[in-house]
Amino acid sequence: MFLELTEEQRLIQDTAREFAKAELDPIAATLDQEGDPPAFLANLRKLAELGFMGLNVKDEYGGAEAGVVAFSVAITEIARACASTAVTLSVNNMVCEVIQAAGSEAQKKAYIPKICSGEFSAGAFALTETGAGSDPSGVATQAVLDGDQWVLNGSKIFITSAPYAGVFVVWAVTDRSVPKGKGISCFLVEGGTPGLVIGKEEHKTGQHASATNELLFEDCRIPKDALMGKLNDGFRIAVGELAGGRIGIGSLGLGVGLAAIDYATQYSTERAQFGQKISNFQAIQWMIADTYTELEAARLLLMNAAFKKEQGKPFAKEASMAKMYATEAANRACFKAVQMLGGYGYTVDFPVERYARDARITAIYEGTNEIQRTIISREILRSIV
Ligand SMILES: Cc1cc2nc3c(=O)[nH]c(=O)nc-3n(C[C@H](O)[C@H](O)[C@H](O)COP(=O)(O)OP(=O)(O)OC[C@H]3O[C@@H](n4cnc5c(N)ncnc54)[C@H](O)[C@@H]3O)c2cc1C
Repeated sequence: MFLELTEEQRLIQDTAREFAKAELDPIAATLDQEGDPPAFLANLRKLAELGFMGLNVKDEYGGAEAGVVAFSVAITEIARACASTAVTLSVNNMVCEVIQAAGSEAQKKAYIPKICSGEFSAGAFALTETGAGSDPSGVATQAVLDGDQWVLNGSKIFITSAPYAGVFVVWAVTDRSVPKGKGISCFLVEGGTPGLVIGKEEHKTGQHASATNELLFEDCRIPKDALMGKLNDGFRIAVGELAGGRIGIGSLGLGVGLAAIDYATQYSTERAQFGQKISNFQAIQWMIADTYTELEAARLLLMNAAFKKEQGKPFAKEASMAKMYATEAANRACFKAVQMLGGYGYTVDFPVERYARDARITAIYEGTNEIQRTIISREILRSIV
């Protein structure tokens, strides 16, 4: 067993770290507090030029074909500076992967290279609806075939990157006569298609630079061949892709947690109370020890899940374990980091309050951690029954 990164993986990690320090860190607080969409999108383009938009995508479709481990370590490094940028990368990678896995050759060639090259700032994964959150089988958006076109009607919520996505992977009901989940299909809808309306933007607790919007489909007509994969096979496609996406979100959580504890640890060597550095107090030392230990455990869980996926082995349980543990460890890390800074940690003059807000959602999106626990226990119980 060899736990070190390969030379290529290390190079990708270093490149991501350098980019994050040089380009993302200096503007992350401004993006969070004031917003600067052009600067945010400019950084996405630069990341595309560096090959970060399709790290786990085949070379023939414009990806870097660097594998899942490289993808995971890159997301962690980007998230250390800007969680909003990291989630955009993670969703873009997921969109590329789902098209690569389920799309026709024509669909792969039409859309994946545009996301990888940065021609599209982003792709969007449009599954969630008001009645379909943890339970995606509750999707109610409808697609009806009318001649050689599908007509979509309905709405989605919480869709990452919607205002600047060039292509949307959309799940809609194509057969209402079968039980829930059995009649859902998956479609590719181009940004700007008449009838696809970008609805209200959510005002979120954190990850402010990444847009999260409602989507409305109002007699939205798309070609018959915009169906992706087999008719009524959409639920299986969604569930398969979400498992991979969880490695991205766990890696993002890890990055935010590391940023928080790195900052707080440094701070503890500078702040003095009672005539000495607060790092001399055992209470502070134990927060440092516990947090780095938990984040290291998270890293190993992520590497295990990423490696299994890369090897083509079953990885759903491992991805859920890694997502659940890493995102909860990240939230604990942020809580402790704020605590270590005392009152200063609760102000926007220091970055740890931003990290705490950015980390919170990682335990919720791409399957809440309660759903991850359901998946993990189901897999374990299945193996012993
Ligand atoms: C910032 C942001 C970005 C997002 N981006 C996207 C995106 O790009 N694409 C997309 O499709 N979606 C996206 N989502 C949606 C996200 O994946 C959902 O919010 C999430 O899956 C939870 O669904 P919900 O919000 O409806 O919560 P609910 O499903 O209503 O859950 C509420 C609570 O009930 C619990 N619960 C529900 N069912 C069970 C159960 N069976 N057992 C135990 N507990 C349960 C949940 O864990 C949670 O605590 C995003 C959300 C946010 C906030």
